[in-house]
Amino acid sequence: KRKRGEEEIAKLSGAVAAFDLKAASLFSELPLTRQTAMALDKSHFKTLTDIQRKAIPLALKGRDVLGAAKTGSGKTLAFLIPVLENLWRAQWNTLDGVGALIISPTRELATQIFDVLRKIGREHTFSAGLVIGGKKLKEEQDALHRMNIVVCTPGRMLQHMDQTVGLNFENLQMLVLDEADRILDMGFRKTLDALIANLPKERQTLLFSATQTKSVSDLARLSLKDPEYVAVHETA
Ligand code: ADP
Ligand code: MG
Repeated sequence: KRKRGEEEIAKLSGAVAAFDLKAASLFSELPLTRQTAMALDKSHFKTLTDIQRKAIPLALKGRDVLGAAKTGSGKTLAFLIPVLENLWRAQWNTLDGVGALIISPTRELATQIFDVLRKIGREHTFSAGLVIGGKKLKEEQDALHRMNIVVCTPGRMLQHMDQTVGLNFENLQMLVLDEADRILDMGFRKTLDALIANLPKERQTLLFSATQTKSVSDLARLSLKDPEYVAVHETA
């Protein structure tokens, strides 16, 4: 295993801080770890999509982001890359517990996110897991204690927060709400509120949505801090 030198982290952190928000059009131009850059390259991702170009530099700098872009615009990498990078620069390791929580409306979408995470996170040493039900609560409970990055559905995660002894999110660095409009359409507003109430207030939050609705902006107002709003508008 490669040692994460303080020097390497300081150098990358400097590059992130100095990075011009509008400068990136290729992944190779972003200030990323070798691990992420290598995996992106192996997966043949070269050019950033519009939402990625706008959201990733802000998220790397630790800002809260409210992102709106239609389905198929590449929102998954727009949050997974900052999750991997920000945890890496924080020298996150197994003992630190859950560092990032990614909430998705359905099991199917959560599984898709997890598959992308496995692909672009494969050179990293973080532990990641799916918490979506479908297996015994006990199995998920045991695994949860070892996860650094959790991809979950709202109902199942809340069930764990209520029932899993010793589960704590006090170290949590990042919360991602993906497909927030769908989460709300599915009637998960109260579940989300209860879930977020269990998380530390000092954290980074990324909220992505395909549509901008009143309920999404209500949620954003309550769960994001001084967010940067990025939208990609369709051209006819
Ligand atoms: P969204 O969540 O906005 O609906 P996804 O993240 O699921 O979009 O991405 C849609 C498709 O685009 C996926 O097949 C994904 O692999 C592909 N994709 C994402 N980013 C890029 C990119 N920068 N270059 C090429 N393809 C990409
Ligand atoms: Mg998506």
